[in-house]
This record gives sequence, C-alpha cells and structure tokens, in this order.
Amino acid sequence: MLFTESTQCSFFRFLLCFIFMGSFLMLSGSSYANSDYYTEKRVITAKVYTSELAAESALDITRWNATPADEILVTTERIATDYQVYTIELMSDDCQILQFSGQLGAGRVQVCPQELEDTLFVHYPVIETIVFLHTNDHHFDINLQDELEKKINEIRGSYSDVFLFDAGDIFVRHPRRWVVNDTLEKDVEWYGQRSMEMVESMNALGYQAMTLGNHELDYVESFTGRALDAAKFPLLSANMEITTDALPSPQSHLHFSTNTGRTISVMGLSVASGNKHGILQKDIFETAAQYMYLREEADVFVALTHIGLQNDARLAEEFPLLDIIIGGHSHHLIEEAVLVNDVLVAQAGGNRHEVSDQHPVYLGKITVKMKNGQITHKEGYVIFIGDE
Ligand SMILES: [Zn+2]
Repeated sequence: MLFTESTQCSFFRFLLCFIFMGSFLMLSGSSYANSDYYTEKRVITAKVYTSELAAESALDITRWNATPADEILVTTERIATDYQVYTIELMSDDCQILQFSGQLGAGRVQVCPQELEDTLFVHYPVIETIVFLHTNDHHFDINLQDELEKKINEIRGSYSDVFLFDAGDIFVRHPRRWVVNDTLEKDVEWYGQRSMEMVESMNALGYQAMTLGNHELDYVESFTGRALDAAKFPLLSANMEITTDALPSPQSHLHFSTNTGRTISVMGLSVASGNKHGILQKDIFETAAQYMYLREEADVFVALTHIGLQNDARLAEEFPLLDIIIGGHSHHLIEEAVLVNDVLVAQAGGNRHEVSDQHPVYLGKITVKMKNGQITHKEGYVIFIGDE
C-alpha cells in the first residue's frame, strides 16, 4: 500500500509509542531525503486500537489535526469492532504531531515519514510516563561520577522521556569553609578550578536545567561566573535579578517537550545569602504568583527551587496549580517524595560544604504517569548511588 518511489525507500516501517492523553504513535523509518514531498504522497494506514472500550462501543475519533494542518491528511477507511483504520498521507519530510479527540479524551501521536511501514498501531487511550531525575546541593561533590552516569543512562534507556535537573548549590561558600579532605584550602585559584570541574561534570552527565543556589549567587570574583558560563544547560531563577557582569542572568522558566509534544514547564526560584552586589532578590511567593499562567500551557508544571523544604511546603500550599516541586538548600533527604496539597515535593539530600571523597551521592527519581493527558499518578524516591 503505499507508495512512492523516487524516495529512497519504498516502504514504511514503524514503531510506536503511547503516552498521555489520547493516543499517540510514533513512526520512525527510512530516509526521504531529497524527495519532492509535495508531489509525492506517503500514505500509511493506522490502526487505532481501543484497548479500554468494550467491543460494541465504537471509538469515535472525529478530529485529526496536524501541525501544520495542510501537511497531513487523514481519512477513515473502515471501522472494526475493536479498532479503526485510518489512511494517513504525509506530505512533509518532517515528523508531525497528530491530535485527535474521541470519547476518552484527546489523543496525540507523532508520525515521522522515515522508514515507514504499512501499518501504525495507535493504542487508545494513551498511557505516558515521564521521569524527572534530580540532584541538589552537590557543593563541589563529583564523587562516584561513573556510577552516577551509569544509573542515569540506565534510566534514560528505560523510558522515552527522561529529564535531568539540578536544584542548586553546586558550589561552596566563600572562603572559610573551603575544606578539602579536612584541610583548609583558601586558594581562590583552586575554587575556580573546582567550580569549572563541577560544571564540566554536569555537562558530561547531560543536565538539562539548574536553578541557581545561594552559593552560585554568592559569587567569588570572576570564577563563579566563568564556570557558570561554561554550563551547557540553562540556569533558572524567576525571582533573582542580576545586574552585575560577574554572573550570567538566569531565565525565569523553561519549556521542554516530550517525544509526543507534551509541554513541561519548569519555573526556577532561589534564595540568596547576604546582600551581594548586583543581585536583587524578589519575594519567592509573589514571584511564583506571577508565573502561574505557565499552568495553562503546561501538561506538567514543575518548580525547580533552591529555597529550602519549609518554603517548598508553603509553595505547595499556596500554589496547587503546580504538579511537582523539586527542591534544594535545606539538604533534606526525602527518601519518598511527599504530597503536599496534592503537589509532589521532592529533595535529594545534599552534602556538607567540606569537599570530601567520602560523601554519598543521591539521585532523585520522580515518575509521572499520564492517561489521555491527565496525570494519574506521581511518585518520587531517592536512589543511593554506589550502594548496590
Ligand atoms: Zn543553599
């Protein structure tokens, strides 16, 4: 069935996934490079299985939309008792997100023109799992990096959507507490080197966002800023205004997309210690209120904070529009994340400011399950790295 020639491959292979609201499917496949895709139609058929409907209850998928809408055409070919068959014509080399609505809610599916086969299986309703890995208060600790990387990669290999965040304080305070394996170390050059190593380690692990902690804001000469400038991940803090050149300016929030086009909004909030020149700290809760509009565009709304557990709990009480708060600063080892006002609050311990190769390494893991785009379950716990 399907198609074309002129393209480098003549048939379709697919693969599929399912997630969130509605149904979603994903095709991957061969290359159509150089094809004239406005004259060639790549037709695929999609079987939409109605796994949760009784056989006699017909699935009514009445609306398909693609982005942009004119690059895809979907028509219903026939209806069986437990599934429907659609013909999908792709007219672009780009992957497309298809959305549709049915009795169980809206669905969405990613369809890619490469290596298409002749049938896609779209399970409806769609169950999706998103994982957030998190650390906080490293305080210069880069212990057990190989073990940490192995665990992160293992989790990345087990889920289609895994995000890695840090909740701040990767550096240490200045300067009397620069203790390295019980020896006082005040050399500012050492501080600069260690700061850079810390950031490079996080780059290598593939962190995707970090909220500034008070010990990043408590900058030391140009060393702190130089190290943070090397970060390949964005820095967050909605309530800090930076007017000094010694530090990069953080973003207030970020959006991430899952493989099915779901939106995750992440807002950063911090505390600063002392009155460092060039840093204006705005009220945490007033600032948070200004960003609650992010809820409207988010399927999952996360606060990545460095404000301490007490403030995190208050944040959850005042802002139930949040789904998850990933925190730091108070060094609480919350072995099982807690629900406060139905907001999941997590924090993964933290290290003393003394640099030591004896510190344990903690990795928080939050799992969010969604059905037809609604969160049906969220949980979190802390993994002890190096503890087999
Ligand atoms: Zn802190």
